[in-house]
Amino acid sequence: MSNKDYYNILGVSKEASKDEIKSAFRKKARELHPDVNKSSTAEQDFKDLGQAYEVLMDDEKRSLYDRYGADGLKNAGYDFHGPFDFGFGDLSEILNSFFGGGFAGARQDPNAPRRGSDLRLDFQIEFEEAIFGTEKDVEITHLENCDRCLGKGVEPGTKLNTCPTCRGSGQVQQTTQTILGHFTQVSTCPQCRGAGQIITNPCKKCHGEGRIDVSKVISLKIPPGVDNGNKLRVSGEGDSGKNGGPPGDIYVILYVKPHKFFKRDGVNIYLEQPISFSQAALGDNIEIETVDGKKPLKVQPGTQTGTVVSIKGAGAPYLNMPSRRGDQFIKLDVQTPTHLNDEEKKIFARLAEIEKQKSKKEPFIDKIKGAFTGS
Ligand SMILES: [Zn+2]
Ligand SMILES: [Zn+2]
Repeated sequence: MSNKDYYNILGVSKEASKDEIKSAFRKKARELHPDVNKSSTAEQDFKDLGQAYEVLMDDEKRSLYDRYGADGLKNAGYDFHGPFDFGFGDLSEILNSFFGGGFAGARQDPNAPRRGSDLRLDFQIEFEEAIFGTEKDVEITHLENCDRCLGKGVEPGTKLNTCPTCRGSGQVQQTTQTILGHFTQVSTCPQCRGAGQIITNPCKKCHGEGRIDVSKVISLKIPPGVDNGNKLRVSGEGDSGKNGGPPGDIYVILYVKPHKFFKRDGVNIYLEQPISFSQAALGDNIEIETVDGKKPLKVQPGTQTGTVVSIKGAGAPYLNMPSRRGDQFIKLDVQTPTHLNDEEKKIFARLAEIEKQKSKKEPFIDKIKGAFTGS
């Protein structure tokens, strides 16, 4: 610790009162705060300022300093801050307690209007509702201003009282003994949480909270084309604000129930459609399910299992562009027959004979070749 002139650092006279020191410190701290002061000595200047302030605000340290200088303090066991050695975070904390915020990590004025909290609502809808949109009445619970005390938390007809702990300042000074010495910290009053006033007669309805849980039914407009995990914002239906601040919002997270047979990927819908051996071989006109109801589909003769066909525009609408829609894709799944009755067995046996004769005329190797050349 060098013999720094604390009076000079703060720019006050040797006779300066605590109020003068305090106001000088505020002024200097704004100039020298490393957020503003970009000179190379910013950090040291700021530390020196903090040190000067701390010493001159403490009667005992100040008198030691006046008589013996900084070394006198050190000899008296006040080498606590070595080079006033703590981080800017701590300094900001100290400054914030002086200025009521304004520096990084500012503490909020407890009496300032504050926006209410946003709320989250998980909401499940049917597959079809996600596709075509819907309107739902949903019961929510949020905080509303208490109607008995109009959000003040004070029983009507009674008044707020000055907080006895901080005597209305909203702040308390705490001196802690650390290995570095005494450390005085100004912090928010724990009793009034910085408000400076306390409620001695809390409102009977909200117990002094100023807000109460209210259940309410809101109408939820779900647009066409929403999908699993989409978020809808219902503005102004979150918790009500404090001290006249605006309410928060509700974020509705949508969960789409899986469908019995449709699957969805973005705007496209997928369906597996079983068809019989004979339908696959001979072709057929069938009806298939779409989200719009049954639609005709032509199965081509000679359809292989796994063939995918599509119906244009039978998919899900694009979100915010409901006139445009994706497609439906249908995977045709040829079912090998089981549990054959006698007649079917005869027919398949007959079919087997025919196939044998065919393969004699058309050797197997030719069939393979045909498969590759597409003939
Ligand atoms: Zn109330
Ligand atoms: Zn208090």
